[in-house]
Amino acid sequence: MTSIIDGKRCATLIRSAVAQHVGRLRENYGLRPGLAVILVGENPASQIYVRNKARLTEEAGMLSLDERLPAHTPQIQLLEVIDRLQRDPAVHGILVQLPLPPQISPEAVFAALNPAKDVDGFSPLNVGLLHTGGHGIVPCTPLGCLFLLKQQLGDLTGLRALVLGRSNIVGKPMAALLLRENCTVTIAHSHSRELAAECRRADIVVAAVGRPQLVKADWIKPGATIIDVGINRITSPDGKTRLIGDVDFAQALGVAAAITPVPGGVGPMTVACLLFNTLTVACRQHDIPAPELTLPPPDRETSSRPG
Ligand code: NAD
Repeated sequence: MTSIIDGKRCATLIRSAVAQHVGRLRENYGLRPGLAVILVGENPASQIYVRNKARLTEEAGMLSLDERLPAHTPQIQLLEVIDRLQRDPAVHGILVQLPLPPQISPEAVFAALNPAKDVDGFSPLNVGLLHTGGHGIVPCTPLGCLFLLKQQLGDLTGLRALVLGRSNIVGKPMAALLLRENCTVTIAHSHSRELAAECRRADIVVAAVGRPQLVKADWIKPGATIIDVGINRITSPDGKTRLIGDVDFAQALGVAAAITPVPGGVGPMTVACLLFNTLTVACRQHDIPAPELTLPPPDRETSSRPG
């Protein structure tokens, strides 16, 4: 039997814990954490993400600021907007929605972010702190994956983990986090050989490649825990579109011990961790102890292989 890891439920628990902390901050210190999200261009998926983030930020009792810039915005103008927001004491966290239009270099944007306000954890200092065991800000998606893994497995020490994908926003920080948790970590990517065999050795698989259903049943070690980060929009023969992950979910059922669904797994956790990071940076900027979040053990929802 395979447990379905309920990312939606877990994200709801995190958001409500964040909202409680925010309530106490406002009551005891008159402090309302503020998050500014900058969107450059009109990417339809990004527009949905940004709207969703703003709604959930407000639901958690925080201030939400929305900055919309046209797709042709020059890089220098975006950097000026970032600079203005960074000087605003009501703004504790800043997120620049990815992807950015081609005239803007993500690296230049990350370098311009004040690490203390960088809720995505992409600025060079936060990247370095993650890799050297410091207390920076951890990127939201890997942080959400780690919450789910620890909730599912408890102590991860000594487990073999395979991270599929080596992007700066998911794969690399995920691998660094798992290493910090004392896993034996392998990172695989588009040039890796014998991917299936690498995967079959792993107790934990985090798939972040953006290739629909790349991971098949015979790639999975029986009893492994699978975190599927992939979001792939596919069109069925009847013309309807739906989202699927990087793992063949139906095939994994009955082989893996536990797996995240797509949608409803990692996605909601990313936004919940963004709110958690915003709360953390607001506390740090005011020398207030930042909260630790621990989750209760999961409700066991299990499913066997269909058919
Ligand atoms: P990316 O395109 O930046 O990186 C993809 C990585 O996968 C690269 O390192 C590449 O080497 C590797 N790769 C590609 N094809 C491969 C193959 N056939 N075999 C092995 N490795 C291969 O992507 P990303 O930004 O890291 O995102 C990965 C996926 O995760 C995408 O589907 C994205 O939509 C999704 N994502 C989801 C969330 C979320 O909140 N759920 C957040 C970020 C990204």
